Amino acid sequence: MLVILTGLPGAGKSTFSKNLAKTLSKNNIDVIILGSDLIRESFPVWKEKYEDFIRKTTYNLIDTALKDYWVIVDDTNYYNSMRRDLINIAKKYNKNYAIIYLKAPLDVLIKRNIERGEKIPNEVIKRMYEKFDEPGKKYNWDRPFLTVDTTEDIDFNDIAKKLIDKSKEIPKYYIEEENKKEIKNNKDYNILDKIDKETRKIISEYIKSKKLNKDEVKEVIKLRKKFLKDLKGKEVDINTVIEEFKNMLDEYQI
Ligand code: ADP
Ligand code: MG
Repeated sequence: MLVILTGLPGAGKSTFSKNLAKTLSKNNIDVIILGSDLIRESFPVWKEKYEDFIRKTTYNLIDTALKDYWVIVDDTNYYNSMRRDLINIAKKYNKNYAIIYLKAPLDVLIKRNIERGEKIPNEVIKRMYEKFDEPGKKYNWDRPFLTVDTTEDIDFNDIAKKLIDKSKEIPKYYIEEENKKEIKNNKDYNILDKIDKETRKIISEYIKSKKLNKDEVKEVIKLRKKFLKDLKGKEVDINTVIEEFKNMLDEYQI
């Protein structure tokens, strides 16, 4: 089972991880908490150029651990692309996953940040808060299994029970479906765009070659519009469509 935490700095991820891991452990589950801070903090100083290594090494650790243990990912996982990468690791081993979104109001995040010595500037927290896309807003696979407000009481026994039940379900991954949908939409769009351009060209040549008058031009333009409208929602093959369009124009004697 892969438990993916997501939430802003100070939301309470590390605290939550420890409490959840203890509760799971009491339920005889072998669980490990992993996150990029483990690797990040193993460097004496922070440099941007280390980040690529930090990310890869964190993923490798999670990948290896997940074969034998439950893994709680204690990271901000700010972008849905990060959550997608993690889910893909679960998918690789046919393991279930659960996203847990931890949240707290901005003033609480700032207060906790100040108490921790403001290692992250408050301004940065504020910007992250404003820009953070709630998980699941865009994709089904990204929907949180649980959303937890860390200013309220947290029932870890209840959460552990829910996760254990979930871990027994047959895993479902929406990632591929959603990707396919996007690709299909793009493909449809490209085809319609090509047909639009191609029929425009044909029309303009037709108008020139037949030396059409104003009214006739209007008629032909209407014809093209109607032809395109009739295509909507149909599975189309671009070459066939263009042929049909030419035939239609040929038959249309002005
Ligand atoms: P994160 O890992 O998300 O950055 P931490 O777990 O380190 O957050 O918590 C940040 C601060 O908030 C800590 O000082 C911690 O004691 C406090 N905190 C975390 N969870 C809670 C909670 N549920 N209730 C009150 N304070 C909390
Ligand atoms: Mg933390």
